[in-house]
Amino acid sequence: MPLNRSTPSLRWRLFLAFLLLPSTLSAAQPDREALEAETMRHFQALIRLDTTDPPGREVDAADYLEKVLTAEGIEVNRFALEAHRPNIVARLRGNGSARPVLIMAHTDTVNVDPAKWTHPPFSADTEGGHIYGRGTLDDKDNVVAALMTMLTLKRLKVPLNRDVIFLAESGEEGATRVGIQYMVNNHFPEIDAEFCYAEGGSVARREGKVRFASVQTTEKIPRAIELTASGPAGHGSVPLRQNAVLHLTRAVAKVGDWRIPVSLNETTMAYFQRLAGISEPEAAQRYLDILHPDPAIRAPADDWFVENEPLHASMVRTSISPTIINGGYRVNVIPSEAKATLDTRLEPAQDPETFLETVRQVIDDPAIKVAWVPRDLRPPGISGLNTEAFKVLEAAVTKHYNATTLPTMSTGATDMAYLRSRGIACYGIGPAVDGEDGPLGYGPHSDQERILESELHRFVRFNYDIVRNLAAGG
Ligand SMILES: [Zn+2]
Repeated sequence: MPLNRSTPSLRWRLFLAFLLLPSTLSAAQPDREALEAETMRHFQALIRLDTTDPPGREVDAADYLEKVLTAEGIEVNRFALEAHRPNIVARLRGNGSARPVLIMAHTDTVNVDPAKWTHPPFSADTEGGHIYGRGTLDDKDNVVAALMTMLTLKRLKVPLNRDVIFLAESGEEGATRVGIQYMVNNHFPEIDAEFCYAEGGSVARREGKVRFASVQTTEKIPRAIELTASGPAGHGSVPLRQNAVLHLTRAVAKVGDWRIPVSLNETTMAYFQRLAGISEPEAAQRYLDILHPDPAIRAPADDWFVENEPLHASMVRTSISPTIINGGYRVNVIPSEAKATLDTRLEPAQDPETFLETVRQVIDDPAIKVAWVPRDLRPPGISGLNTEAFKVLEAAVTKHYNATTLPTMSTGATDMAYLRSRGIACYGIGPAVDGEDGPLGYGPHSDQERILESELHRFVRFNYDIVRNLAAGG
């Protein structure tokens, strides 16, 4: 059904007329039913646009958002390194007494194998309380929440102390040069803000009950180390002790066996402390033990993590995963060179050169060259827990989810790193997701993707609240 987006619906017009009564203005809250219907309309429309990256084609989503925002009289600008991959920046002006808040979401999605989907990936079908489609959790949920927040703030004429900026960025899933890097390097004043909310957190549900809300406040720094083993070439029939393949495999094994020392920061310390508060006694003790300054008390908890909770083992240290090995080209030739690549995730406070030197000492083999691989550098940054933006978030988590907020350090990389490096305090948020859904194959980047409709709506209300409370106060 064609939609007329150029004028607000009758319901909205009646509602806005109602709001003109001054006595209701301070308690202004959006009409829930109308908001949910409109949220669904925009969400399904966005899911039905194929913006898989590569190749991207974010232009369709950008056109859609620009049209909806412009129709409401919201200021919108488009910035594109490549015309078919634009970024959209919308702005609501405040009185300038505080610096802006940025809400960021990406319009591209990862690819799909349509054969794996029971509901086609761009159908936005609904069934059993879920909405199906690529991007439902990553990241069109954040796109639509930001959109609805902008529309609602505008319609309710909420007086703002800060500008509210919405960045719908392209290229997040692997082409940041057209998205966040392009914006930060070429149009930073358009998105410069004191605080930012973006993807990167979520609310964990199990058996239909909310357990906690995770808010991403920092992330590890992705780097890569290359090991190059050198030795004499020779005939495979005459074994050589200097065989480069042997040296390389020994070096990889040493790195694999090395227990990299635990290093914690404000975020990870608060994470384990709060996680202990909502865990069963045995687990809670481990989460407290890992924080203990005495290595003898910490060690058993760390051993447990390494064996049973690899994500936690990674969160408490700089980590290394050997991921690529190359060497040799035929069975009867001992090659003169062999290489391995180590996926390295630095704890944000870790000095890279000191770490590399330690890796050299661990390997302790002059036949092995240890060096950083040139890679897109995401500069380190941690967003504090003692900020207005975080406090507003915690209060909203309590109000909407009645749950504990866990600040988290993600082991993977997000676009917020580029903003943190420019001084913006960023917080990763997300809707509630059933823990059971991941193993069933419905997570972000999974074979299929879906979101609970009720949780999408709750997330929209949550999003509106945090932005409104941060930008308008109260
Ligand atoms: Zn994403």
